[in-house]
Amino acid sequence: MIIVLKPNLPAREERAVLAEIKRLGYRPHIMRGVSRTVVGAIGDENRHPTLEALRAWPQVESVTPVQKRHKLASREAHPANSTIRVRDVVIGGPEIVVMAGPCSVESEKQLMETARAVAASGARILRGGAYKPRTSPYEFQGLGEKGLKLLAKARRETGLPIVTELLSEDHVELVAEHADLLQIGARNSQNFQLIVAAAKTGLPILLKRGLSMRVEEWLLAAEYVLANGNRNVLLCERGIRTFETYTRNTLDLSAVPIVKRESHLPVVIDPSQGGGRADLVSAFCRGAVAMGADALIIEVHPNPREALSDGAQQLTPAGFAALMDDLRPLATAVGRAIAPPEAPGKPLTRKRVE
Ligand code: PEP
Ligand code: MN
Repeated sequence: MIIVLKPNLPAREERAVLAEIKRLGYRPHIMRGVSRTVVGAIGDENRHPTLEALRAWPQVESVTPVQKRHKLASREAHPANSTIRVRDVVIGGPEIVVMAGPCSVESEKQLMETARAVAASGARILRGGAYKPRTSPYEFQGLGEKGLKLLAKARRETGLPIVTELLSEDHVELVAEHADLLQIGARNSQNFQLIVAAAKTGLPILLKRGLSMRVEEWLLAAEYVLANGNRNVLLCERGIRTFETYTRNTLDLSAVPIVKRESHLPVVIDPSQGGGRADLVSAFCRGAVAMGADALIIEVHPNPREALSDGAQQLTPAGFAALMDDLRPLATAVGRAIAPPEAPGKPLTRKRVE
């Protein structure tokens, strides 16, 4: 910690601050300027009580920590990129992993049709909400357990691992039984009890950024997963709330290089919630790939106009296939790769998953 003392402080007042720094287990290193003194408190902030309380002392002008608050999520703690496995899919390596599927699981036909189509186009993980965090209680709330069972069936058919949202602590066991990757939604991104309960399942966590969350707060939310013994966290930017009304949210692509610099955790971009508009998904994905995102999560529906949630932002299966074709050369240009499509007419070659 760096403690800046008020200017022209009497020696007696300075001694009181130094005594407090020592009392808390730190060694003060004093740097005297012309009118003010700066004290470096030397010691491990993880092992000694914090010096933050000195902020309230009348002798003190400022207290600045030198260690990151997001200790385990920081690059300092783990200089190399982390890779995270979701069954046989590795995120954070050379491949840009594409997750795709409907916003909500609506029916067996809708889900299977989407799952087969996105698998054939090179998606590596199937998304689909069974529990939906809807803004209005009168809107479709998801199929619940029935939706989870359909997701498991789609996994059996296509071999794609499943990502689905966990909305409540009451459902941790049930959702964990069916999912391969647990999504903590934007609205729950600071619901720390839910995050800890999800972390304790041992499954990897896709942590969305909250609607008005700073990067530091997002990393601290991830810290809750890491501090509870689960090292598998993906950070998903899905747009933040700004003054702009043209789009549903403002996709903060600047978060990609910022988070990659601050943290070793993989970054995922959700272009669908990001803009709320299907016509923006392609540009957002291209930007995300160019900026260094490790994965994309994209909403796809066989008939977006009839979708029970987020119809305006979902791609058709044909639109998704075209997008994947557009993204592959771009991924190659930045030294990454996106999985190829399945050869037409051939049955799925991917390993079946029970
Ligand atoms: C979703 O993925 O459909 C969703 C509701 O996401 P978010 O929590 O980012 O709004
Ligand atoms: Mn959605």
